[in-house]
Amino acid sequence: MTGRRIRVRGLVQGVGFRPYVWSLANSLGLSGWVRNDGGGVTIGVRGSAIDTFEYRLSREIPPLARIDAIESVPDNIEGEGFSILASVADTLLTAIGPDAAICSACVADLCNPEDRRWRYAFTTCTHCGPRYTVTRRLPYDRPQTSLAGFPLCPDCEREYRKVTDRRFHAQTTCCPACGPRLQLCHASGAAIDGDPIAQTLDRLRSGAIVAIKGLGGFHLVCNARNAQAVAHLRLRKQREAKPLAVMALNAASLATNAQIDAAALALLKSPAAPIVLCRKGAQELPGIAPGVGSLGVMFPATPLQLLLWHEAAGRPSGSAWLDETAELLLVMSSANPHGEPLVFDNAEAFVRLADIADALLLHDRDIAVRCDDSVLLPGPVFVRRARGYTPVPIALVDDGSTVLALGGSLKNTVCVARGREAFLSQHIGGLDNAPALGFLEEVVAHLLSILQVRPACIAHDLHPDFASTHLALALAAQWNVPAHAVPHHHAHIGAVCAEHGLRGPVLGLAIDGVGLGSDGGLWGGELLRVDGAQCRRLGHLAPLALPGGDRAAREPWRMAVAALHGLGRAHEVKGWLHSRYPDLDADPLLQMLERKLHCPMTSSMGRMFDAAAGLLGVRSHCHFEGQAAMELEGLAQRHGPVTVPDGAWLQQATTLDFSPLLARLAHCNDPGYGASLFHAAVANALAHWLRAEAARHALSTLVVAGGCAINAVLMAALRDHLAGSGLALFEARQAPANDGGLALGQAWVARQQP
Ligand SMILES: [Zn+2]
Ligand SMILES: [Zn+2]
Repeated sequence: MTGRRIRVRGLVQGVGFRPYVWSLANSLGLSGWVRNDGGGVTIGVRGSAIDTFEYRLSREIPPLARIDAIESVPDNIEGEGFSILASVADTLLTAIGPDAAICSACVADLCNPEDRRWRYAFTTCTHCGPRYTVTRRLPYDRPQTSLAGFPLCPDCEREYRKVTDRRFHAQTTCCPACGPRLQLCHASGAAIDGDPIAQTLDRLRSGAIVAIKGLGGFHLVCNARNAQAVAHLRLRKQREAKPLAVMALNAASLATNAQIDAAALALLKSPAAPIVLCRKGAQELPGIAPGVGSLGVMFPATPLQLLLWHEAAGRPSGSAWLDETAELLLVMSSANPHGEPLVFDNAEAFVRLADIADALLLHDRDIAVRCDDSVLLPGPVFVRRARGYTPVPIALVDDGSTVLALGGSLKNTVCVARGREAFLSQHIGGLDNAPALGFLEEVVAHLLSILQVRPACIAHDLHPDFASTHLALALAAQWNVPAHAVPHHHAHIGAVCAEHGLRGPVLGLAIDGVGLGSDGGLWGGELLRVDGAQCRRLGHLAPLALPGGDRAAREPWRMAVAALHGLGRAHEVKGWLHSRYPDLDADPLLQMLERKLHCPMTSSMGRMFDAAAGLLGVRSHCHFEGQAAMELEGLAQRHGPVTVPDGAWLQQATTLDFSPLLARLAHCNDPGYGASLFHAAVANALAHWLRAEAARHALSTLVVAGGCAINAVLMAALRDHLAGSGLALFEARQAPANDGGLALGQAWVARQQP
């Protein structure tokens, strides 16, 4: 044998991997070839430095590449020199990368007055730029992307063909001569003359709201330091209280507004460029994130966004300005009026955003598929997984049949498990409106198309009335494949088992909103024994009544009254309610509770958070899902640690009862202390319960999942209490712990069916 044949699997196509191999081989004086094929990249090498080549191959890879496996076998490799061979015909190019923030080399081009891409908003290369959101179908090649209508000019063509250029085979490369263009328009549709970036910045500075086309959809943008502009945006978007995210040039520009630690900074500067929820700083930005303890921060990720700060800095050349403090701070809010899917099309933008935006900054590079901004806590903990991460697969330890899972109802995503990979879709959102259902169907079709699979089984939530369940049953009938219903909390635990490759029985703690349990009950604070397709309920939180059903989830005062009633203190309710919320009338609710009318019981942890917030007088009505719990967490963060008194909870054989704690909160007049006490007591109680039940059921692997597992205060305390317990704790890291990760768990459970 004269050489070696090396097969590389992972994200190695469309990321500049072949030129990288070419350069490495040439620098070591090796002969041979490299080519793309159906399995990734295959390399043939010959020469004396093969061992060095293999050693360095996996250690110096391009920024967007990811190697999952390298296999190397001796082979006869002929010929002189090193060449890049044409891709193997009829093999599928398997991977589309996620969208990536502009790289430093492209920033240098953008800010170089001598460069032909000076101030060009679509500058990109193999190390950065759009991928997923411009790809209509496979293979990932220019004609299949939104750049299809922009033939390369001779200069771009030369770069595209030149192996040593970083735009070699960059499918979305372009320049001012051949690529997309910006256009600023009035909401009426009339074009606005002048430089689009300068004109946009002028308008933002004077308090206007501008809709700006991003990678996966439009943002509604305004000056974050202008309280009146922010108030206008909230009014026009009918978004009364939900936190808004801000975009800043760098951490220094937010020094007084947010605490950006090293972990947060690493996420903010990563190619995925997500929104990172940071603790608020000393100075609050009025109207941006009222009531809650964190501020959603992002850095400019596209050349278009960066150009706004470049303009504000006076169009400097070079890169020194990037590290300087910038006054410009923008609200970047998803353009999703009425909770409907993100606006992503130019024509649609004029229709749906005309009443909200004063002007629209458009361009003619189409968005092939909607993709919201991702939201994370340092950790990392996903709150929402979308742009920058989709469609990166989550590795599975076991092979299995192809499963499509359709998720739940809130914060929805769908998932395709194929081979040893699970592809979780971008965030789709709440399925409570017709456009969202259309988006759900679009995402399913797009995901199946780019993965080129037909599922052998369809998984869905046990709830028969979810729109996702209806679609699952319809698709199963259409394709003549089985449909498999998965109980909500089994799926939550399954999602964590899937990403960590956990085999065998685990003790699962699901702390969540309300989901349908296997006995038809409304679960949400569950201790489960999960072993693949098997799930047994070992225990649960003591149930609380939900007066008015779903309405109770939006009105924490109802949960507070239900808690007092449940404590046998119905006689105190009127006086208590008058002291906390004088405008509310207790009678109708008390009658419902007395007669047990529209008062289903739930063991949900999320509703217990609502009860606590209601009891403390933090909030009577929520404007968005989870608001009361987020405010409670913010209060606890600001207050700091407290000591938990004895007897705050009752631990019984199969229930954990927080009645004593709730009783105490009803008469606590310090919400900060009460919020801290609540978090501390719940963490403490859960830890005791978990240790005892793990021992009793001889389980040593613990999984904690569900929407409440995103609560940083609760989880930090729980981790502390469990340290040294001998229990191995696993949490959601690659998918959201909330319902955004449900589909992954459904797919995992469905695959384990005998
Ligand atoms: Zn680049
Ligand atoms: Zn060009």
